[in-house]
Amino acid sequence: MTSTLPGSREIETIPFTHSYAELPGAFHAEVEPTPVREPRLVALNRELAEELGLDPEALESPEGIRMLAGNAVPATARPVALAYAGHQFGGWVPQLGDGRAILLGELTHRDGRLRDLQLKGSGPTPFSRRGDGRSSIGPVVREYLGSEAMAALGIPTTRALSAVVTGDRVLRQNGLEPGGVFVRVASSHVRVGTFEYFARQGDADSVRRLADYVIARHYPDLADRPDPCLALLEAVVERTADLVASWLLVGFIHGVMNTDNTSVTGETLDYGPFGFLDPYRPGEVYSSIDRHGRYAYDQQPGIAQWNLARLAETLLLVYESPEEAVERARPVIGGFVERFEATYHAGLVRKVGLVGDDEGDLQLAGELLQRMARENADFTRTFRELSHLDGEDASGDDAVRGLFDTPAAFDSWAEDWRLRLASDSRPDEVRQAEMRSVNPAFILRNHLAQEAVDAAIESEDFGPMRRLLEVLSRPFEDQPGHEDLARPPESEERVTRTFCGT
Ligand code: AMP
Ligand code: MG
Repeated sequence: MTSTLPGSREIETIPFTHSYAELPGAFHAEVEPTPVREPRLVALNRELAEELGLDPEALESPEGIRMLAGNAVPATARPVALAYAGHQFGGWVPQLGDGRAILLGELTHRDGRLRDLQLKGSGPTPFSRRGDGRSSIGPVVREYLGSEAMAALGIPTTRALSAVVTGDRVLRQNGLEPGGVFVRVASSHVRVGTFEYFARQGDADSVRRLADYVIARHYPDLADRPDPCLALLEAVVERTADLVASWLLVGFIHGVMNTDNTSVTGETLDYGPFGFLDPYRPGEVYSSIDRHGRYAYDQQPGIAQWNLARLAETLLLVYESPEEAVERARPVIGGFVERFEATYHAGLVRKVGLVGDDEGDLQLAGELLQRMARENADFTRTFRELSHLDGEDASGDDAVRGLFDTPAAFDSWAEDWRLRLASDSRPDEVRQAEMRSVNPAFILRNHLAQEAVDAAIESEDFGPMRRLLEVLSRPFEDQPGHEDLARPPESEERVTRTFCGT
């Protein structure tokens, strides 16, 4: 690029590094993004840009937009598509890889750690198989909203830097749709499926190399451990257990927990047919492709553990005595359950406003969940409204009890809850404020996401998306004037099927 357009200098000199592209050739394929016709910026995450040392003005300039669309690649970038495999719905797929994603390089975040910058929907790669390498603007909007909503909830996740509408159309199930390019920021894009890709080929050297890479990049403290691979497995188990617990505590259903969508950094990765619970139904499945409910809300901990067992299997390859390695890895995988339960249970007890580790508190929280499930109570609303209740006086309980098909089912629980609160020395305001800090008022409800996606696809209208982004960036604050985004959907508004759309 030799142009002197405004922003071009900043874009051309973005200080990308290439730790991943410098790994051996089997790890990736060099590929150039395919230009799009007429890119138009629809969303830019200015705050995140600044955290990455990028100049938001430059990104909004014509040169910046060309980069975010894949139409121009700065000389400092080194575009590659990543190789990986994975278990999809339990079945082994030996080669997947980035079929429509291209890594430009890494940037150093303000926190001192690297982040990947990846284009998604920027044209075919050697891993595209029969896919077009493109994305409709619909899934771009979904991923943008999903990842930013999760980040604002404090849940580890990949982030959204930008969304561009391309001026081209892509053919999808429902016909032609406007194309989109998404720029994703991740701690890295190494997945369980990356390890599996090499392990299943019996390539122990690459598995070792990848483990060293992941340790150096994500878990540097483990490098000096006597058994770094086992320590890595332990660390990934812990982070994943905490991640899935945090999902359950906000009613999140990932929808496609395949091993190729399971990050080794403990971040939520790949927002396809995800969804958030409206009524609390533990067996809820929204994803249109999850026919047997493998990835139902309450199956997620067990599936995460299954995926981690696949990771453990790949690491066995680096040991001289696999039998001995199995002996050591087994309790680590088993330890997932304890870690998950500790985090999940502590979170549940906090959601009902209790502190400490009294066994009775967990029972009390569990009892509320059971009644919510029986009574079709809205998950998010119930906990939020509970956060406003008086610790002694039940006369203001209507906002909560009205969420239960039989309000009396809440009343009898609330009596027990208040009996327990009587022995809590904190003032009501303190307890309520703590409860509000863990019980969001706003989540990305399925019908709201769908509205924003439909507006984007049907008329390239990004107003609903922008409004949601604004409100969901402060999910724990009541926001007068936006009550319509907090309320549960009416039955005719409910969206119970989510699609990846691609
Ligand atoms: P996902 O469901 O997004 O995790 O994708 C699963 C696999 O399908 C990955 O290897 C993707 O790169 C690939 N894929 C999804 N959509 C497309 C597309 N439109 N073109 C090429 N590859 C795709
Ligand atoms: Mg994926």
